Formats: sequence, structure tokens, C-alpha cells
Amino acid sequence: MLELKNLSCGYGAFQAVGGLSLTLRTGTITGLLGANGAGKSSTLMCIAGHVALQQGQILLEGQDIGAIPPHERVRRGLAISPEGRRLFKDLSVEDNLRVGGLIRPAAEFKHDRDYVLTLFPRLGERLNSLASNLSGGEQQMLAIGRALMTRPKLIMIDELSLGLMPKIIDLCYRALQQLRQDGMTILLVEQNTDRALAVADDICVLESGSTVWQGSAAAAAQDPALTAAYLGLH
Ligand code: ATP
Repeated sequence: MLELKNLSCGYGAFQAVGGLSLTLRTGTITGLLGANGAGKSSTLMCIAGHVALQQGQILLEGQDIGAIPPHERVRRGLAISPEGRRLFKDLSVEDNLRVGGLIRPAAEFKHDRDYVLTLFPRLGERLNSLASNLSGGEQQMLAIGRALMTRPKLIMIDELSLGLMPKIIDLCYRALQQLRQDGMTILLVEQNTDRALAVADDICVLESGSTVWQGSAAAAAQDPALTAAYLGLH
């Protein structure tokens, strides 16, 4: 569904990711793992069009989208829940969702919003609250919900579980499984490797901007060298 071919990206002359090739299969969850600074966020932001593509191709359903502007990529079905969430803090939950859905017909708003509220019922109880007044977990749900309001084919989620309580992480991961069941393709950046390995279908591990391991999550979990060297598990 999305194919990265030899992707390099970065900031000015600096290369954050070099030569990444990765295929995301429709209706699956791919976990993008690696230590701080490995290039995970840069990869997501490059796919979304916010970090410069220095080399290679980004193919969405076979079409090269590497040169089109970020808003057009959203129209083609790419959505991102970015690092730090970047919510509109002075807007209510409802209005954050409304902004997310601006590219959709106004008549679809309620239907799209209700889908998000079914995934995250907690947001339904906080519709009139300002985003700034939400807990960390609610903010994460809202960031994902706002991305979903564009009705994407692929959602990219950066650091899903960072700073959240285990109970809330469970809720978010259950929502991911529901999304996959509904046919969504998901690219998930996680520092919490146990969680990612438990839910993902495929895994890609980055180190210093290069791929050091790729394969199924089942194979990743059973590879002692990989888990010890890169994933901090034993
Ligand atoms: P983290 O989990 O810490 O965000 P990451 O794997 O997502 O790590 P990136 O944030 O993509 O890694 O960073 C990859 C490299 O790019 C790092 O060397 C980082 O210092 C550099 N980098 C990230 N953002 C910028 C920027 N805005 N300008 C210059 N260099 C950057």
C-alpha cells in the first residue's frame, strides 16, 4: 500500500535516514523501532512531506508522491499523529476534530466524528473541553482522532505510548487493533518495544538512520540477537 524505495531524508545537508526500503501491507500494523535519534520521526515526517526527501521514492498505491505537497498527501490518504501531538490547545475537542475533518464534506462530519468517538468513547465525554485541559492519554486519543477525521488509508502514529499510564496504553492499543480490523494500514513508531512487538504484523528496526532488521513481528520476538542488541529485551 505504501512503499519506500531507498529513502533518504534529512535537514539541509544532514542525512537523518539513509537508504530505507520498506513496504507497508494494506490492513497491517508495521512497527518502526529504534533508539532515540535513530530516524523514526524523520521517516514519518518525510512520508507526510514535512521533512525533505533527499533521495529515493515514496509510492502510495504505486503512485510516486515524493514531490507533492503535504496537504495533497493528506487528500490522497496519508495522516499523521505527530510527535508531541501538536493539538490546537485553545480549541475544544470537538473543534480539533472539526479541523481534522476540514478536507471532508461538511455533511460527513458527524459520521466521521462518531467513528472516532466509538474508538475513543472518552473523547465523547470531553467534547467541549479545551484540548489543553485534557490528560496526556486523552490528548493522545485526540491527536489520533484528529488524524482519523481525514478518513486516511494510512495512519502514522509517533510514540503512541510515551508518558501514558498502562491502562491508557491498553485503550490506545485496543483502538489500533480495531482500526486494523476495519482495514486501516498503520505505521507505528514506538520506544515501547514490548507493546509494539505484541501488536505489530511487521517490524523495521532503525539504527543511526539505517535499517538493521526487518521482518515479521513473530520472527523479531524470537530473534535473541535482535532483541538483546537493539530492542532492550532479554
Ligand atoms: P526520537 O525518538 O528521539 O525522536 P527518532 O528515531 O525519531 O528519535 P529523529 O527525531 O528522526 O529520530 O532524529 C534523527 C536524526 O535527525 C537525529 O540525529 C536528530 O538529531 C536529527 N534531527 C531531528 N530533527 C531535526 C531537525 N529539525 N533539524 C536537524 N536535525 C534534526
